[in-house]
Amino acid sequence: MSRLVLVLGDQLTLTVAALRGADRAQDLVVMAEVMGEAASVAHHPQKIALIFAAMRKFAARLRAEGWQVAYTRLDDPESSGSIGGELLRRAAETEAGEVLATIPGEWRLIEALEALPLPVTLLPDDRFLCSRAEFEDWARDRKQLRMEYFYREMRRKTGLLMQAGGPEGAQWNYDAENRRPAAPDLFRAKPPRFEPDAVTEEVLDLVEARFGGNFGRLRPFGWATDREGALRALEHFIAEALPRFGAEQDAMLRGDPTLSHALISPYLNLGLLAPLEVCQRAEAAWRAGAAPLNAVEGFIRQIIGWREYVRGIYFLEGPGYTPRNALEHRRALPPLYWGAETRMACLSHAVGQTRDMAYAHHIQRLMVTGNFALLAGIDPHQVHQWYLEVYIDAYEWVEAPNTIGMSQFADGGLVASKPYVSSGNYINGMSDYCKGCSYSVTAKQGPAACPFNLLYWHFLLRHRARFERNPRMGPVYRTWEKMESGKRETVLAEAEAFLARMEAGETV
Ligand SMILES: Cc1cc2nc3c(=O)[nH]c(=O)nc-3n(C[C@H](O)[C@H](O)[C@H](O)COP(=O)(O)OP(=O)(O)OC[C@H]3O[C@@H](n4cnc5c(N)ncnc54)[C@H](O)[C@@H]3O)c2cc1C
Ligand code: SF4
Repeated sequence: MSRLVLVLGDQLTLTVAALRGADRAQDLVVMAEVMGEAASVAHHPQKIALIFAAMRKFAARLRAEGWQVAYTRLDDPESSGSIGGELLRRAAETEAGEVLATIPGEWRLIEALEALPLPVTLLPDDRFLCSRAEFEDWARDRKQLRMEYFYREMRRKTGLLMQAGGPEGAQWNYDAENRRPAAPDLFRAKPPRFEPDAVTEEVLDLVEARFGGNFGRLRPFGWATDREGALRALEHFIAEALPRFGAEQDAMLRGDPTLSHALISPYLNLGLLAPLEVCQRAEAAWRAGAAPLNAVEGFIRQIIGWREYVRGIYFLEGPGYTPRNALEHRRALPPLYWGAETRMACLSHAVGQTRDMAYAHHIQRLMVTGNFALLAGIDPHQVHQWYLEVYIDAYEWVEAPNTIGMSQFADGGLVASKPYVSSGNYINGMSDYCKGCSYSVTAKQGPAACPFNLLYWHFLLRHRARFERNPRMGPVYRTWEKMESGKRETVLAEAEAFLARMEAGETV
């Protein structure tokens, strides 16, 4: 009896486990654009368009390679509207008796497949370098699950940047040489733009008609939608931006939203690029003398370190991870996250860029939008929903540990050893945002005081019992104690007043 082979929108890899395990002479590949997925949260229109366009092209590729593909378009009147429903429909049409799938990257979908009244085989997703079992082994009996140690294991396992059993250059991590501010530079390479072809244009029209109300601009749309394009984007990054990647990794500039970042996360997460090939390409550039070690090591760490680590955490912790709220933050996400006016230039830039491009780089996500949400005590579940909706690369396995764990400390310190919070000083040091802001980053109190300066202390005092004994945070509390008491009271009162104005819907 033939089988149904499920290929999800983020499993667009010719060698994905379910396809490897299938028989192209007998089995039927099932792919489906369904409202159940497209509207599971209100995704950014560019994200939906990228996934649908890439799925359509991948289905055409599979057919060209001899596979039978049953493809459901979003506007198919026969569609059941869900992945599970489409599998049942195809099973009834073909009398296929079982389903072969690669395990999805979201508990919701795993549970839906497991609940189907059909035998479903879920194969491990071996497009990742670290399997779930390996991560569990690594995590077992450890008091703390720090990424840095996991990363070293992954360096040993892959052999990337290794020399005689040790790290190239005798150091595992070159961050001390990274993370500098950046200046505007007309010669800094811009990421490549991919003009939509007829397939993509058709998808863009569909998305405009069906998801036009979602937050975010659909056009101009310039993402690659197939493997060839994704490879061109990778080559462009390696040749043009990788040499400056390390130094400019944390910088933020008003006129340059992408700096020397790779913009490859959408392609990695869809399966159009593989993590190992990307890292090997970067390593080859270093060996050829085309990029410095600090940049290449920093880049490889993001992929074999952070990317694999957050996936490990997501599956290790189970479906109960995303609802966590260790700091008991309950405030509603303010409308400025959806583009409402704000006087804070940093937030206005980060959110505006997100609306226009469905992209912001890591430090904009962590130290601007994430930092503000944490300082202001926003409900982490609402923050998580926001990140899942607005970014082109957002899939729960990668987004949730970054948001719930790294950014919002809502897992109580599993991912981050201390909360990523800062006053305006950090943003001022790493960006040119403050120069164009109606608040003053140097003002610590008074009507012009940067809200990050006020909320920073408010956050630390709210959570004093939890953080005061953290060795990396103790000195900050001692600085607070040294502050004159009248000043301390003013700062806290002004922070309260700011939060009250924000909650009342005033422009802040
Ligand atoms: C609150 C928050 C939410 C995030 N949500 C997502 C998300 O939904 N999807 C996503 O792919 N990344 C997410 N990240 C991580 C990171 O911001 C993006 O991977 C990165 O900005 C993608 O842009 P890039 O390709 O230009 O990355 P670069 O800065 O050029 O980095 C290269 C690659 O490293 C990987 N990478 C870097 N940092 C991380 C990280 N912390 N976790 C996982 N992979 C990483 C990505 O694959 C990325 O493409 C989030 C970070 C934060 C702080
Ligand atoms: S002054 Fe404060 S609010 Fe304004 S851009 Fe700088 S950090 Fe952001």
